[in-house]
Amino acid sequence: MFKISVDQVDDPLRLLDNPLTCPGLFYATPAIDGVISRIRIPSGILTSQQVRIVADYATNFGGSDKNVYVTNRANLQVRGIRGTETALITLRSVGLAGIPEVDHIRNIMSSPTAGIDKDELIDTRYLVRELDEYICSHKELGGLSPKFSVAFDGGGKVSVCQQPNEITFAAVKENTSIYFHLLIGGEATNILLKPEECIFVVAAFAQLYLNEVDITEKRKPRLKKLFQEKGLSKTLEQAQKYLPFSLNVSNNTHTLNTNTNYHLGAHPQRQKGYSYIGIVLPLGKLNTNQLYNLASLVDSYGSSVLRLTPWQNIIIPDIKNEFIPEVQEHIENLGLHWSVNHIYSSLVACTGNKGCASSATDTKSDALALAEYLQQHITLDIPVKIHFTGCSKSCAYHGKSDITLLGAQKIENNILTEGYQIFVGSEQNFGREIYSFINQTQLPKVILRLLQVYKLLRKHNHDSFGEWVDQYTVCEIQHWLNAGGIT
Ligand code: SF4
Repeated sequence: MFKISVDQVDDPLRLLDNPLTCPGLFYATPAIDGVISRIRIPSGILTSQQVRIVADYATNFGGSDKNVYVTNRANLQVRGIRGTETALITLRSVGLAGIPEVDHIRNIMSSPTAGIDKDELIDTRYLVRELDEYICSHKELGGLSPKFSVAFDGGGKVSVCQQPNEITFAAVKENTSIYFHLLIGGEATNILLKPEECIFVVAAFAQLYLNEVDITEKRKPRLKKLFQEKGLSKTLEQAQKYLPFSLNVSNNTHTLNTNTNYHLGAHPQRQKGYSYIGIVLPLGKLNTNQLYNLASLVDSYGSSVLRLTPWQNIIIPDIKNEFIPEVQEHIENLGLHWSVNHIYSSLVACTGNKGCASSATDTKSDALALAEYLQQHITLDIPVKIHFTGCSKSCAYHGKSDITLLGAQKIENNILTEGYQIFVGSEQNFGREIYSFINQTQLPKVILRLLQVYKLLRKHNHDSFGEWVDQYTVCEIQHWLNAGGIT
């Protein structure tokens, strides 16, 4: 790991080679359209002042694409950055630049409705702050893998339990007390922790990892892989040496909430008389004009705070109930949407071939073209998850989708053509393959027909696309699509 202080560097964003694979604020991570800058936002919570500074940063230092992107860890990303010390000083002035040595560690995640969720068992924001302070004050943690990731789930209506984190603390109630159920790599351990024990456990696991891994290696193993090889009981036995308390296993079974739908649209908060509104972004994208206007909106109607979600959307909290329709109108005037049924609410795409050499297709442009086409031809009354991925690594989304579109290339009439392999339903990894290759031009028509058939043939309006499609064979689905003239 390099040792360098931002104060010693004239041009930090330009000078630091990226020894890692993930973008950060202090690493020059090159992409096809220039250097990517990723700003960690613990919990995804931003003040309106910070929102304006990020908009200034994209305007003054971004490349030709002046947009700001919300990532699937609730970071902010700006593309094509030309590194200057002034850029970094701008962000540091509002607390948005962390510590170079630990900047590669993944953003700490919590439910974007922490503290305002009607059903939550505990407000996890203070734990995120404590962990962030711990990480920033322990530069030796710079030896951790960039995949090292921690989430706190408060047990409310908007869950982050299924997000891909190496360590997840999921709040549960046992008798009358609140504990955190420990998950490692998404697997339940049945270890229950008191809230004040969580940071100790992260520190112990980090210590265990650093003791066993060669930190000079460029490609370090994931913590969850190391622990899987070791086995859970051995891992816990060794971690125990670094803990001032005993790890206790619960004999009770806890069912964890995995719902995420309540992060979009208007919902009452636990604070009487107030609601939050979740706003749908097209593939996480916000232009600087929208950012400046959102900053003004949260100053006028909210608490001068905006929250980023791990589903690449945003939330405005603390709106008085009587102002909800007015705020919704302002959101629409900005060209944004707030309905959970909007096509963008369930559309995800990885970076694609504009930023990633592994991608067979321009996933983002193809996803936006599909969304535009579907908006003109169909109205959804229930969200349908559509996932574009440029290769099978599936960086943008790790859960099950209703429709997965895997980038592919084919020679047609001596011309290299880009297209997609289409999978549907929840079975297997991406679902079942219904087409091995549909080119970009045909794709919107095929997906439209699929959604039209679903709306027509489902028994009940509340039947999800996944539930519906899983009932039929691939031949039946292809037959219906072909009946619409699609081959
Ligand atoms: S899923 Fe594949 S193509 Fe897409 S960003 Fe990840 S590695 Fe690149």
